[in-house]
Amino acid sequence: MRASIAIVGRPNVGKSTLFNRLVGKRLAIVHDTPGVTRDRRVGHAKLGRLSVDVVDTAGYEEATDGLAADMRRQTERAIAEADLALLLIDARSGLTPLDHSFADWLRRTERPVLVVANKCEGRQGEAGYYEAFRLGLGEPVALSAEHGEGLADLEAAIVDLLGQDAVEEQPAGDRPLQLAIIGRPNVGKSTLVNALIGDDRLLTGPEPGVTRDAIAVDWLWRDRAIRLVDTAGLRRRARIEAPLEQQAVASSLDAIRLAEVAVLVLDAAAVLDKQDLTIARHVVEEGRALVIAVNKWDAVADHAEVLARLRDRLETSLPQARGLPTVTISALRRQRLDALMDQVVGIHALWTTRVPTGPLNRWLQTMVEAHPPPAAKGRRIRLRYITQVKARPPTFALWVSQPDQLPLSYDRFLVNGLRERFELPGVPIRLLRRKPRNPYAEE
Ligand code: GDP
Repeated sequence: MRASIAIVGRPNVGKSTLFNRLVGKRLAIVHDTPGVTRDRRVGHAKLGRLSVDVVDTAGYEEATDGLAADMRRQTERAIAEADLALLLIDARSGLTPLDHSFADWLRRTERPVLVVANKCEGRQGEAGYYEAFRLGLGEPVALSAEHGEGLADLEAAIVDLLGQDAVEEQPAGDRPLQLAIIGRPNVGKSTLVNALIGDDRLLTGPEPGVTRDAIAVDWLWRDRAIRLVDTAGLRRRARIEAPLEQQAVASSLDAIRLAEVAVLVLDAAAVLDKQDLTIARHVVEEGRALVIAVNKWDAVADHAEVLARLRDRLETSLPQARGLPTVTISALRRQRLDALMDQVVGIHALWTTRVPTGPLNRWLQTMVEAHPPPAAKGRRIRLRYITQVKARPPTFALWVSQPDQLPLSYDRFLVNGLRERFELPGVPIRLLRRKPRNPYAEE
């Protein structure tokens, strides 16, 4: 999902002109009569590296007669769903009381705001531009939407506020899913790879460390392009004199960095020993998606016992990745490989998820109400706003009034809540704390 920006401001400041300038099509109606634009319009804006959805809003007026109330509702809705609000003012006419009430209102919504002083062409807007600092919402951007001036500054300021989220990415659908099969020697990685890609390209054998070739294999699984970034071949690079087990961890590390999803293969006869856990933790720390494949299931006598042991170890030793997908397989007999690949594709989808800002903040509200953060230095810690700043893995930024004072246990509370509410089991989730940019927001 693209980041979304709402253009707001009193009537006639140039919202629709800016919208058209950004979206590049004459979608919204522009007119000199205040209040002509009545509906929200959404378009895809491309400006330099910037790629965002832009929402044009009707003017929000303080009056409460039918139309104005409706416009206000529209604007509120646009803001609630946006990652950033552009507050447009008319630099030629200077600040009006309505601009101030817009600023106050936006401050209360606690959304990130960028003040844009429009109609700054020539020098006519200079006084109005400096006046715009007085809104107390940070440094304004000087712009002329009609003449296309100041767009580079606008682009830079938006990218600054929204980060990589606002920058165009390669479409994910065209790229193969980067998959690594990792694990200790002799757990059956090569056998699994051969079973998956359907020929004997990799050498397998009973003695550990037989596989030698460094391979990235592309293949299709149910029309999905998969690129297998091989671990086995990377062993060559590991220090030969190092004990085999250490080599396994080192080569797994290389593969993890290349991969989006890592399948950690375990031998059902010895599930999740120390090495396995070390590798699993690396996957989570690197922010990759992890799937556990319990191999050699065909050779297990007591299935229930192995599963119980596995669950127990996962819970006590890998709490960072609650709900990890775990599949029992037999690489040798080619059993449950589809189930394994289903999990791989599923977790990849979660790993690339984007959670919209509106629902996120509504959720945050309920979390804070259920369990308010403690006070620090005599002041209550306030959680102002949350937004997903990045996918792959899902990464959230939380604006906190005293970022250093929020206890770590509160992070865990939020991350577990995120997992539950937005259905993100098993993927690493990152939560970053940010300080409100605007010092006035403290009041
Ligand atoms: P790698 O070192 O992890 O690549 O392991 P290999 O694929 O070379 O397999 C090591 C040994 O385990 C070989 O003798 C395989 O035949 C055996 N093996 C692999 N998968 C299975 C399985 O699903 N069931 C059983 N019983 N043996 C397996």
